[in-house]
Formats: sequence, structure tokens, C-alpha cells
Amino acid sequence: MSRLSLPVPNKAQRTVELLYKSMEGRMHAGPSGSCPVDLSLSFVQMCQAQSCGKCVPCRIGLGQLASMLDDVLNGDATFATLDLLEQTARSIYLSADCVIGYGAAKMVLRSLADFRADYEEHITKQKCLASLDEAIPCMAHCPAHVDISGYIALIADKKYDAAVQLIRKDNPFPTACAFICNHVCEKACRRTMVDEPVNIRGLKRYAVDKGGKLPPPVAAPATGKKVVVVGGGPSGLTAAYYLQLMGHSVTVLERLHDLGGMMRYGIPSYRLPRERLDDDIKHILSTGIKVKYGISVGKGITLQQLRKKYDAIYLSIGAHTYKKLNINGETS
Ligand code: SF4
Ligand code: SF4
Repeated sequence: MSRLSLPVPNKAQRTVELLYKSMEGRMHAGPSGSCPVDLSLSFVQMCQAQSCGKCVPCRIGLGQLASMLDDVLNGDATFATLDLLEQTARSIYLSADCVIGYGAAKMVLRSLADFRADYEEHITKQKCLASLDEAIPCMAHCPAHVDISGYIALIADKKYDAAVQLIRKDNPFPTACAFICNHVCEKACRRTMVDEPVNIRGLKRYAVDKGGKLPPPVAAPATGKKVVVVGGGPSGLTAAYYLQLMGHSVTVLERLHDLGGMMRYGIPSYRLPRERLDDDIKHILSTGIKVKYGISVGKGITLQQLRKKYDAIYLSIGAHTYKKLNINGETS
């Protein structure tokens, strides 16, 4: 019986793997504001470096794509260049032997299709459209665009109340998010290029555990407008909070006996302790929002009646109905 031998990657292979690993980190946390033409050129050049050279579409074609992209960047291209770039990429896409070739061509076709204006700006004005603002990646990925770098800086200065107040500028549920947010922000954290992302949600938790007892910001002068919010869950309470701070008089109608919606009735308390959820809700209500419980629109009161009584209606009735499996015995 022959002995089992496990091939050990040699030094060169180990180095290449390390280079790819750091490249992977860069891709993950890539800033959103880079010039799409420049990015496409660097991607094509990386694919060129991976080419085995076996088939002409890839061995020669990727070089052609790179030189045309370079012409666009250097202002040496015309609209005819873009047409040729598209034709060449399409033929490589259809004829290269493997994904290294046709994958690279596909990237150029997508970039040409989605960033046509940038390419044309380079040709007509020899400059980038720069339409992709250089947002901080974590803030760009946070659904609420919370000022992450700002509140982390305040935490570093031990200004926990101010940190929570800064979070509340864009998200009235700092505590709830500190416990349960799926922290997509960390996915784009640039620290990934070094080692691991910054524990952004963990730092938020630290701030809300230490601070957050500040009174709400002063509301804008009263507008005289009355707004009704139907549903006291995350969406309704968020709208109510900012509408009240804008000077409108807000009333929340809640069908159940407590506010919070899916955060209270859908997420188990071991993940989000109710008293911590109440920290956020108390702060939101301290702006002066009125709440009526046990009101079911369509049963107790109609939309027409609400339209007569209020200047605006915000409907946020939530997602309380479970998805049916349509199998026998499902409801028994
Ligand atoms: S497309 Fe694939 S097979 Fe063809 S040269 Fe590139 S890497 Fe080699
Ligand atoms: S933890 Fe969630 S809410 Fe907080 S910054 Fe990240 S994505 Fe935004």
C-alpha cells in the first residue's frame, strides 16, 4: 500500500496566497468613490496576470482591452474607441476558453453599460464624472447612514452621551441596533485590509451601556400640522420621532398594548431585552409624541376619518402575518 503524501505549498505558492488574501480584503472594503474606468482597467490587468495564455481571445484580447481603457483614462480615446472596446469585450466573452477570459470581458461590458457617462466624460472632458461620492464605506453600507466614524471618535474621547446623540441623528434606535443589527457596516470596514473589521456594533453597545441619557434635541418651531402614524413599530416610531422634531404634532395609533412592533413581538427577549428596547422608545416619546393603544384602523376608525382629522398619514402597519406553507394541518 503506497504512503499518503500531502503536497506542501512551496514558498512561492504561499506568497501568492497571501497576496490574494490581502487583495480580497481590499476588494471587500473597496471605497465606493473610485473612478469606474480606472477600476475596470486594474481588474482587467489583474485578470491578464492570471491568464494561462492558451487561447488568443484572452492572451491577446485582454491586452487590447487594457490598452483601450488606458487610452480612455489618458484622454487619447474617441467614441469609436468605446464601440471597439465593447465589440472586443463581447467577442472575448463569447470565445475565451475559461472564466478568466470571459469573466474579465463581462466585467468590462458591465462597466461600460453602467458607467457609460463616466467613459464619455473622460472622452469629452478628460476627467472623471466623480459621481460616486467618496462616502466612508461603513457609513455607505449602514442602512441608516449613521455617522460611524463620528461616534467612534466620541467614544474614544469617553463622550458616550454625545456618541449616542450623534447616532440618534440618523437612527432613533441606537440601543436596539446595538443588540440586534446585522451590522452590514462592518462588511465594508477598511480595517479588513489590515486584519478584521472594527467591531462597530460592539462599540455602539458600549456607548449605549455607558451613555445615552441626554434629553432629545429641541424640536423645530411648531408647524401647526398634525400627522398620524398608523403602527408603532420601528418604521412608525422612526417617522414619528423625526416628524415631531421637525415641529409637526404627531400621534401614533398602535393596535397592540405595547410599542415596538417586530422588535418586541418578533425578536426574542434574550436577543433584545425589553427594558433596553424601552430605553429607545422612552427617548422617542420624550419628544412629545402622543400614542393611542388598541386602535385598529379599518375596525375602530377608517382612513377617511383620519384624512379629515390629520394633515398627513404615515402607514406603517408592519409584517405580522406569517408566510403560509400551504401544507395540510398547517393551521390545526
Ligand atoms: S481564457 Fe482561460 S484558457 Fe484562455 S488564456 Fe485565459 S486563462 Fe487560459
Ligand atoms: S450596526 Fe447597524 S445601525 Fe449601526 S452602524 Fe452598523 S449597520 Fe448601521
